Amino acid sequence: MKRAFLFLSIHCKIRMVKKMKLEIAGESYPIIIEKKKTTKNLYIRVKDDLAVHITCHTFTSDRQIEEIIRKNQKSIVDMIHRMKQKKKREEEFYFLGKKYDIVYTEFCDISLGKDKVFIHRDFDLDKWKKKQALSLFQEHLETCYDRFSRKIPHPTLRIRKMKSRWGVCNTKTHVITLNLELITKDIHCLDYVIMHELSHLVEPNHSKRFWSVVEENCRNYKYYRKLTNEIGEEEV
Ligand SMILES: [Zn+2]
Repeated sequence: MKRAFLFLSIHCKIRMVKKMKLEIAGESYPIIIEKKKTTKNLYIRVKDDLAVHITCHTFTSDRQIEEIIRKNQKSIVDMIHRMKQKKKREEEFYFLGKKYDIVYTEFCDISLGKDKVFIHRDFDLDKWKKKQALSLFQEHLETCYDRFSRKIPHPTLRIRKMKSRWGVCNTKTHVITLNLELITKDIHCLDYVIMHELSHLVEPNHSKRFWSVVEENCRNYKYYRKLTNEIGEEEV
Protein backbone atom coordinates (compact mmCIF):
# COMPACT_ATOMS: atom_id res chain seq x y z
CA MET A 1 0.00 0.00 0.00
CA LYS A 2 1.30 3.44 -0.89
CA ARG A 3 1.27 5.97 1.93
CA ALA A 4 2.04 9.65 2.05
CA PHE A 5 1.56 12.24 4.72
CA LEU A 6 1.20 15.85 3.82
CA PHE A 7 0.97 18.59 6.44
CA LEU A 8 -1.16 21.51 5.41
CA SER A 9 -1.77 24.06 8.14
CA ILE A 10 -1.38 24.93 11.81
CA HIS A 11 -3.49 27.36 13.81
CA CYS A 12 -4.02 28.54 17.33
CA LYS A 13 -2.09 28.07 20.58
CA ILE A 14 -3.92 25.92 23.09
CA ARG A 15 -6.29 24.11 20.75
CA MET A 16 -4.24 23.30 17.73
CA VAL A 17 -5.82 22.05 14.54
CA LYS A 18 -3.65 20.54 11.90
CA LYS A 19 -4.67 19.01 8.60
CA MET A 20 -2.97 16.16 6.86
CA LYS A 21 -3.76 13.83 4.04
CA LEU A 22 -3.42 10.12 4.13
CA GLU A 23 -2.99 8.37 0.83
CA ILE A 24 -3.71 4.70 0.67
CA ALA A 25 -3.83 2.71 -2.56
CA GLY A 26 -4.41 5.77 -4.73
CA GLU A 27 -7.17 7.21 -2.51
CA SER A 28 -6.68 10.36 -0.52
CA TYR A 29 -8.31 10.80 2.92
CA PRO A 30 -8.17 14.06 4.89
CA ILE A 31 -6.86 13.79 8.43
CA ILE A 32 -7.83 16.48 10.91
CA ILE A 33 -5.71 16.53 14.04
CA GLU A 34 -6.93 18.41 17.05
CA LYS A 35 -4.47 18.83 19.91
CA LYS A 36 -5.95 19.79 23.25
CA LYS A 37 -4.44 20.28 26.70
CA THR A 38 -7.36 18.44 28.24
CA THR A 39 -7.11 15.27 26.12
CA LYS A 40 -5.07 12.53 27.76
CA ASN A 41 -5.33 9.73 25.21
CA LEU A 42 -5.33 9.67 21.44
CA TYR A 43 -8.64 9.10 19.70
CA ILE A 44 -9.18 8.21 16.06
CA ARG A 45 -12.64 8.66 14.55
CA VAL A 46 -14.04 8.75 11.04
CA LYS A 47 -16.91 11.21 10.83
CA ASP A 48 -19.50 11.50 8.10
CA ASP A 49 -17.37 14.06 6.24
CA LEU A 50 -15.21 10.94 5.58
CA ALA A 51 -12.26 12.69 7.23
CA VAL A 52 -10.15 10.95 9.85
CA HIS A 53 -10.41 13.00 13.04
CA ILE A 54 -7.60 12.58 15.53
CA THR A 55 -7.81 14.13 18.97
CA CYS A 56 -4.74 14.04 21.22
CA HIS A 57 -2.78 15.95 23.84
CA THR A 58 -0.92 19.15 22.88
CA PHE A 59 2.44 17.47 23.52
CA THR A 60 1.85 14.55 21.15
CA SER A 61 4.36 15.06 18.36
CA ASP A 62 3.57 14.83 14.67
CA ARG A 63 6.00 11.97 14.39
CA GLN A 64 4.10 10.04 17.11
CA ILE A 65 0.82 10.72 15.33
CA GLU A 66 2.24 9.53 12.00
CA GLU A 67 3.45 6.37 13.69
CA ILE A 68 0.04 5.71 15.28
CA ILE A 69 -1.69 6.29 11.94
CA ARG A 70 0.72 3.90 10.27
CA LYS A 71 0.14 1.22 12.93
CA ASN A 72 -3.63 1.61 12.76
CA GLN A 73 -3.89 1.99 9.01
CA LYS A 74 -5.96 -1.15 8.54
CA SER A 75 -8.54 -0.21 11.16
CA ILE A 76 -8.67 3.37 9.80
CA VAL A 77 -9.39 2.03 6.31
CA ASP A 78 -12.07 -0.24 7.82
CA MET A 79 -13.63 2.75 9.62
CA ILE A 80 -13.70 4.74 6.36
CA HIS A 81 -15.27 1.77 4.58
CA ARG A 82 -17.95 1.41 7.27
CA MET A 83 -18.73 5.13 7.15
CA LYS A 84 -19.02 4.99 3.33
CA GLN A 85 -21.46 2.08 3.67
CA LYS A 86 -23.46 3.99 6.31
CA LYS A 87 -23.66 7.08 4.07
CA LYS A 88 -24.77 4.90 1.15
CA ARG A 89 -27.50 3.37 3.32
CA GLU A 90 -28.66 6.87 4.22
CA GLU A 91 -29.01 7.78 0.54
CA GLU A 92 -30.70 4.60 -0.62
CA PHE A 93 -33.79 2.85 0.57
CA TYR A 94 -34.82 -0.68 -0.32
CA PHE A 95 -38.42 -1.78 0.07
CA LEU A 96 -39.75 -5.15 -1.08
CA GLY A 97 -36.77 -5.68 -3.34
CA LYS A 98 -36.96 -2.29 -5.03
CA LYS A 99 -34.36 0.44 -4.68
CA TYR A 100 -35.50 4.02 -4.04
CA ASP A 101 -33.33 7.13 -3.86
CA ILE A 102 -33.98 9.04 -0.67
CA VAL A 103 -35.14 12.64 -1.06
CA TYR A 104 -35.42 14.53 2.22
CA THR A 105 -38.43 16.81 2.39
CA GLU A 106 -40.29 19.07 4.82
CA PHE A 107 -43.69 18.39 3.25
CA CYS A 108 -44.54 14.86 4.37
CA ASP A 109 -43.43 12.08 6.73
CA ILE A 110 -42.96 9.48 4.02
CA SER A 111 -44.20 9.06 0.48
CA LEU A 112 -43.13 6.33 -1.92
CA GLY A 113 -42.77 7.46 -5.53
CA LYS A 114 -41.83 5.42 -8.60
CA ASP A 115 -38.13 5.24 -7.78
CA LYS A 116 -37.80 7.92 -5.15
CA VAL A 117 -38.93 8.00 -1.56
CA PHE A 118 -39.65 11.35 0.06
CA ILE A 119 -38.85 11.31 3.76
CA HIS A 120 -38.90 13.95 6.47
CA ARG A 121 -35.50 14.19 8.17
CA ASP A 122 -36.99 13.49 11.61
CA PHE A 123 -39.05 10.53 10.41
CA ASP A 124 -38.40 7.27 12.23
CA LEU A 125 -37.85 4.96 9.26
CA ASP A 126 -37.20 1.87 11.42
CA LYS A 127 -40.52 2.33 13.22
CA TRP A 128 -42.30 2.66 9.88
CA LYS A 129 -40.55 -0.43 8.48
CA LYS A 130 -41.56 -2.38 11.60
CA LYS A 131 -45.20 -1.32 11.21
CA GLN A 132 -45.22 -2.41 7.54
CA ALA A 133 -43.42 -5.63 8.42
CA LEU A 134 -45.85 -6.50 11.23
CA SER A 135 -48.88 -6.75 8.98
CA LEU A 136 -47.08 -8.07 5.89
CA PHE A 137 -45.05 -10.76 7.68
CA GLN A 138 -48.08 -11.92 9.70
CA GLU A 139 -50.20 -12.15 6.54
CA HIS A 140 -47.50 -14.13 4.69
CA LEU A 141 -46.88 -16.38 7.69
CA GLU A 142 -50.59 -17.29 7.78
CA THR A 143 -50.70 -17.95 4.01
CA CYS A 144 -47.56 -20.10 4.15
CA TYR A 145 -48.88 -21.95 7.22
CA ASP A 146 -52.19 -22.72 5.42
CA ARG A 147 -50.31 -23.94 2.33
CA PHE A 148 -47.74 -25.97 4.30
CA SER A 149 -47.62 -29.62 3.23
CA ARG A 150 -47.17 -31.13 6.73
CA LYS A 151 -49.09 -30.91 9.96
CA ILE A 152 -47.26 -28.47 12.22
CA PRO A 153 -48.18 -26.39 15.28
CA HIS A 154 -49.37 -22.87 14.59
CA PRO A 155 -46.37 -20.57 15.02
CA THR A 156 -46.17 -17.23 16.80
CA LEU A 157 -44.44 -14.44 14.92
CA ARG A 158 -41.78 -12.12 16.29
CA ILE A 159 -39.91 -9.50 14.33
CA ARG A 160 -36.60 -7.92 15.21
CA LYS A 161 -33.41 -6.67 13.64
CA MET A 162 -30.82 -9.42 13.53
CA LYS A 163 -27.22 -9.16 12.45
CA SER A 164 -26.51 -12.63 11.15
CA ARG A 165 -29.81 -14.43 10.54
CA TRP A 166 -32.84 -13.91 8.32
CA GLY A 167 -35.00 -16.09 10.49
CA VAL A 168 -34.93 -18.23 13.62
CA CYS A 169 -37.34 -20.96 14.68
CA ASN A 170 -37.72 -22.03 18.28
CA THR A 171 -38.95 -25.59 17.88
CA LYS A 172 -40.03 -25.82 21.55
CA THR A 173 -42.06 -22.62 21.85
CA HIS A 174 -43.02 -22.54 18.11
CA VAL A 175 -41.92 -18.92 17.91
CA ILE A 176 -40.63 -17.86 14.50
CA THR A 177 -38.50 -14.72 14.58
CA LEU A 178 -38.03 -12.93 11.27
CA ASN A 179 -35.39 -10.30 10.57
CA LEU A 180 -36.98 -6.88 10.09
CA GLU A 181 -34.62 -6.27 7.17
CA LEU A 182 -36.57 -8.86 5.13
CA ILE A 183 -38.92 -5.94 4.38
CA THR A 184 -36.17 -4.61 2.09
CA LYS A 185 -35.98 -7.84 0.05
CA ASP A 186 -38.02 -9.35 -2.75
CA ILE A 187 -41.31 -10.72 -1.37
CA HIS A 188 -40.36 -14.26 -2.54
CA CYS A 189 -37.35 -14.12 -0.22
CA LEU A 190 -39.75 -13.50 2.68
CA ASP A 191 -41.84 -16.53 1.66
CA TYR A 192 -38.73 -18.67 1.29
CA VAL A 193 -37.49 -17.71 4.78
CA ILE A 194 -40.95 -18.41 6.27
CA MET A 195 -41.15 -21.84 4.57
CA HIS A 196 -37.60 -22.55 5.74
CA GLU A 197 -38.48 -21.72 9.36
CA LEU A 198 -41.80 -23.65 9.20
CA SER A 199 -39.85 -26.68 7.93
CA HIS A 200 -37.81 -26.55 11.15
CA LEU A 201 -41.04 -27.44 13.00
CA VAL A 202 -40.83 -30.78 11.16
CA GLU A 203 -37.06 -31.21 11.14
CA PRO A 204 -34.95 -29.08 13.52
CA ASN A 205 -31.60 -29.58 11.77
CA HIS A 206 -30.43 -28.78 8.26
CA SER A 207 -30.51 -32.44 7.28
CA LYS A 208 -31.39 -33.94 3.88
CA ARG A 209 -34.88 -34.60 5.21
CA PHE A 210 -35.17 -30.94 6.19
CA TRP A 211 -34.29 -29.69 2.68
CA SER A 212 -36.81 -32.08 1.11
CA VAL A 213 -39.54 -30.58 3.35
CA VAL A 214 -38.40 -27.10 2.22
CA GLU A 215 -38.55 -28.21 -1.42
CA GLU A 216 -42.06 -29.61 -0.97
CA ASN A 217 -43.18 -26.14 0.05
CA CYS A 218 -40.94 -23.91 -2.01
CA ARG A 219 -40.06 -25.47 -5.37
CA ASN A 220 -37.48 -22.83 -6.29
CA TYR A 221 -35.96 -22.77 -2.82
CA LYS A 222 -32.38 -23.05 -4.16
CA TYR A 223 -32.82 -19.90 -6.22
CA TYR A 224 -34.45 -17.93 -3.40
CA ARG A 225 -31.98 -19.19 -0.83
CA LYS A 226 -29.16 -17.91 -3.06
CA LEU A 227 -30.97 -14.64 -3.73
CA THR A 228 -31.70 -14.04 -0.03
CA ASN A 229 -28.11 -14.69 0.94
CA GLU A 230 -26.66 -12.77 -2.00
CA ILE A 231 -28.41 -9.57 -1.19
CA GLY A 232 -27.39 -9.60 2.43
CA GLU A 233 -24.51 -10.95 4.39
CA GLU A 234 -26.69 -13.24 6.42
CA GLU A 235 -27.20 -16.96 5.90
CA VAL A 236 -30.38 -18.98 6.17
ZN1 LIG B 1 -32.50 -23.14 9.13
